Amino acid sequence: MVVDNVHLTSRSFFINMIIQKFGGTSVGSAERIKAVANLIADDTRKIVVLSAVSGTTNQLVQINKALYKQDKVAVEGLLTSFESAYNQLIQDLFISEESRLKAKSHLSGHINHIRSFTLDMFTPFEERTVLAQGELLSSSLLQLHLSEKGVKSVLIPALDFMRIDQNNEPDEWYVKSNLNRLLDAQQETKLFVTQGYICRNHFGEVDNLKRGGSDYTASIIGAAIGASEVQIWTDIDGMHNNDPRIVEKTRPIDRLTFDEAAELAYFGAKILHPSSILPARKSNIPVILKNTMHPEKPGTVISNVSSGNFIKAVAAKDGITAIKIKSDRMFLAYGFLRKVFEVFERHRISIDMITTSEVAVSLTVDSEEDLEPLLEELRLYGMVEKEVDQCIVCIVGHMIQEEPGPAARIFESLRNVPLRMISYGGSKNNVSLLIDKQYKVEALKALNQGLFQLN
Ligand code: ADP
Ligand code: ASP
Ligand code: MG
Repeated sequence: MVVDNVHLTSRSFFINMIIQKFGGTSVGSAERIKAVANLIADDTRKIVVLSAVSGTTNQLVQINKALYKQDKVAVEGLLTSFESAYNQLIQDLFISEESRLKAKSHLSGHINHIRSFTLDMFTPFEERTVLAQGELLSSSLLQLHLSEKGVKSVLIPALDFMRIDQNNEPDEWYVKSNLNRLLDAQQETKLFVTQGYICRNHFGEVDNLKRGGSDYTASIIGAAIGASEVQIWTDIDGMHNNDPRIVEKTRPIDRLTFDEAAELAYFGAKILHPSSILPARKSNIPVILKNTMHPEKPGTVISNVSSGNFIKAVAAKDGITAIKIKSDRMFLAYGFLRKVFEVFERHRISIDMITTSEVAVSLTVDSEEDLEPLLEELRLYGMVEKEVDQCIVCIVGHMIQEEPGPAARIFESLRNVPLRMISYGGSKNNVSLLIDKQYKVEALKALNQGLFQLN
């Protein structure tokens, strides 16, 4: 009853709020943090979601490795360079000595917290606490900078409202009721700041939404408060037609549907966390990808509005394992696939691609964990072969299956690349191909030329 009231009040009050998420490079230096502060200090009511300063989470991963080894000398060395980089940032970011002292005291608090883990046993619980320090630090630095600039903001700690359930899925009800309660307590506030990536799990422990998870935080928050828009600010002017880390010439895409963006994110377009589109799609909240260095550029609008019948982008995801189950029993039998799927379900391993013939079924999984227990059970149903180091190349856009054209162009482009599996027709906006990882760069370059006439 109480929660219903809270929810009703907040929906009417916060309905026009926007979410602005800033990634690691957007807060990667004092200059960038100042630019973010200028961008967010307008009159729009908003929640700003922050990542850790770029490189920080990677450094924390290194510190965790040293902590697991109980290598105190290595931990101290890593913490010293961590501290001196942040001291420089603090020096450049703040104007007054008073603010610098406050910031340094925050920094020492985080560093001493990490150092305290050298004294006792180090487990995944402590590991996740260490990983959380990056976002805790960046958000407190931004907030201090805002207050030095005279911009009023309120920090709403992610650990007070962001939670995942026992299946590691966002606990929608918990997030919604707690976030709305926190916002309702601050009805006069226009600018809220929170941490991306970090959350609590269903035991109440500090946890996270996996690497790149701040995008997911922004979308979960957007859905929880019924925001009018979720903006993801990063170091590139929107979703490009191909992976800019791999091919030289790429171009931004103006519009994508939720489905198209979700496919690209899931199949390797690093600009978005794999699950980040799902909450926004469910609540029909547009997601806009923008460039912090060039805010004037239009970026990419992701919504339920379709934007033309053409192939829009390609992406690639490595770390794929292909599993083939070959069985004479499959021939003319029904129920065979059900049994195979049930094995995957029991092992809680999800399947990305599937192709079948009369005597075999091939599947892919992106798990790099030990697959032996799964394979052992699958052997009850036939001969099992496993191939690691595979890569899924995903072509996204509008594939008009009633008309000739797209498929021919895809295969013509890839005539020199051995194709291990092909999935076509599962949806109107995706063709997936499995290739050996060694051909990934060649495949992406060939598709850039063949489908987009680039390079
Ligand atoms: P942030 O730190 O802001 O979260 P990320 O590094 O996670 O930024 O994501 C942005 C990066 O994603 C870009 O710099 C780019 O190299 C990479 N990227 C990979 N595929 C694409 C794509 N299709 N379009 C745009 N960027 C992409
Ligand atoms: N800081 C986290 C990472 O580097 C989360 C994020 O940036 O989205 O993965
Ligand atoms: Mg990211």
